[in-house]
Amino acid sequence: QAKDKEWWIKAFSQFCNKTANEEEEIVHKLLGDKFKGQLELLRLLFTEALYDEHLSRWFTPEGFRSLFALVGTNGQGIGTSSLSQWVHACDALELPVLQREELDAFIDQLYKDIEKESGEFLNCEGSGLYVLQSCCNHSCIPNAETSFPENNFLLHLTALEDIEAGEEICISYLDCCQRERSRHSRNKILRENYLFTCSCPKCLAQADDADVTSEEEEEGEGETDDAELEDEMTDV
Ligand SMILES: [Zn+2]
Repeated sequence: QAKDKEWWIKAFSQFCNKTANEEEEIVHKLLGDKFKGQLELLRLLFTEALYDEHLSRWFTPEGFRSLFALVGTNGQGIGTSSLSQWVHACDALELPVLQREELDAFIDQLYKDIEKESGEFLNCEGSGLYVLQSCCNHSCIPNAETSFPENNFLLHLTALEDIEAGEEICISYLDCCQRERSRHSRNKILRENYLFTCSCPKCLAQADDADVTSEEEEEGEGETDDAELEDEMTDV
């Protein structure tokens, strides 16, 4: 839809869009056999709805796969919730005891009523591509983190410790629960989703650990393939 299509094509080409890491023989999990059918269906739907001859390269099977890998490896999840922002503002109000109790009771009831209709999940979620932030490599002990404190798409990159001039700024591609898992489990996620094996100081220090799978992951293995499939597709 953009007027200056060439500019956008150039902007997109700044992101890594490799579908495989040939040196390490890793292929993005979304491009494996498991997702073949869904991916082709999506490509046909995208073509029907959005085809533009300027972008024809992204509508071929190979081009669509690389576009998908681009979003999969560079996309930053963005979650915002105007409701939780409002509740935080309510919490900050200085109120007489009785009014505070009334307001808290109202909010409790509101959450219960909403849950009946929409479930617990109240965030507006999306994925964004950020040119600078996507340059940050991963570390299992990152020195910076990404957040969205303004409750919109404006990304903040915050240092978690003092960073020397010339020192690499690293974020974590894993959430904090995943970071607590064994080196083996962490690297399984990183290989499947980001096509690399981590060699951060934590992984190097644990290099001699046995290839154990974390308990959390073993518990998760009971999930049905369909639930897992759905989860992985919505992640992207
Ligand atoms: Zn690591």
